[in-house]
Amino acid sequence: MAFKQIGVVGAGTMGNGIAQAFAQSGFEVVMTDVAPAALERALKTVSGGFDRLVKKEKMTAEQKAAALARIRTATDLAALKDADLVIEAATENLDLKLKIFQQIDAQAKAGAVIASNTSSISITRLAAATGRPDKVIGMHFFNPVPLMALVELIRGLQTSDATFAAVEEAAKAVGKTPVQVRNSPGFAVNRMLCPMINEAIFILSEGLASAAQIDEAMKLGANHPLGPLALCDLIGLDVELAIMNVLFEGFKDPKYRPAPLLVEMVEAGYLGRKTGRGFFTYS
Ligand code: NAD
Repeated sequence: MAFKQIGVVGAGTMGNGIAQAFAQSGFEVVMTDVAPAALERALKTVSGGFDRLVKKEKMTAEQKAAALARIRTATDLAALKDADLVIEAATENLDLKLKIFQQIDAQAKAGAVIASNTSSISITRLAAATGRPDKVIGMHFFNPVPLMALVELIRGLQTSDATFAAVEEAAKAVGKTPVQVRNSPGFAVNRMLCPMINEAIFILSEGLASAAQIDEAMKLGANHPLGPLALCDLIGLDVELAIMNVLFEGFKDPKYRPAPLLVEMVEAGYLGRKTGRGFFTYS
């Protein structure tokens, strides 16, 4: 089951990075989005990403042109009919993803594998919405996709060994290191990372240390490249809160309760870098 053509559904932050990674590694890519403007922005971002590689002499101008030419865009999911692997990277919303999975299932050829880049939605549940649950898997890339080496491969209860093996091979073909995780709230990385960030927010709200001191402590004491609060600003406070809620609801364990300060900052619209203000301010 070697993949040649990759479909990407959703051309936002993650979708364009995924399209870039596959096109750069020689795959044909069909990138779709409901918003034509998102597709335009995505192509610009991918082109800019390739420019940086050309500047660093990791790619020639000819290779850039060839990689860009391997990406087609479309607003209609019918464009996915020849894709061997479709990676869904649309907005994180269960109802939306269930609908998109049914649409992809209807458009994609019978043997195609459907993957989701979801950070928190159950792969088992998405698989159950299709007529090919054994061919559904989680392919959780990290942001920014071109730079981050990890892909969590999430097996739903129904995922077959053949599907897993084929997707593992594809992840390696784009230069990523796959880690196998069974479907469970937050998978592995976010289940460790988000509670750590949440705890940093508790420490801040209890007045034990300032935001700058908390981050300095983890950078120097745990060798983290970024402190937990700066990382939360980068991820988005709304995203951190959503993932904590998924963990809290999924396990019903109070250790995952979101810090009240996190909830309040999201209510205030202090979402981190994207709004210019989170635990730190950005101009
Ligand atoms: P984003 O908001 O940047 O992009 C989402 C895109 O999906 C938008 O362009 C939107 O127009 C498009 N979309 C919405 N409905 C659609 C539909 N019906 N069909 C096709 N496209 C549609 O979001 P993002 O940050 O790229 O996140 C995408 C997915 O990746 C989410 O599931 C998220 O949980 C996951 N994820 C995000 C990150 C991150 O750091 N941003 C990291 C890992 C995983």
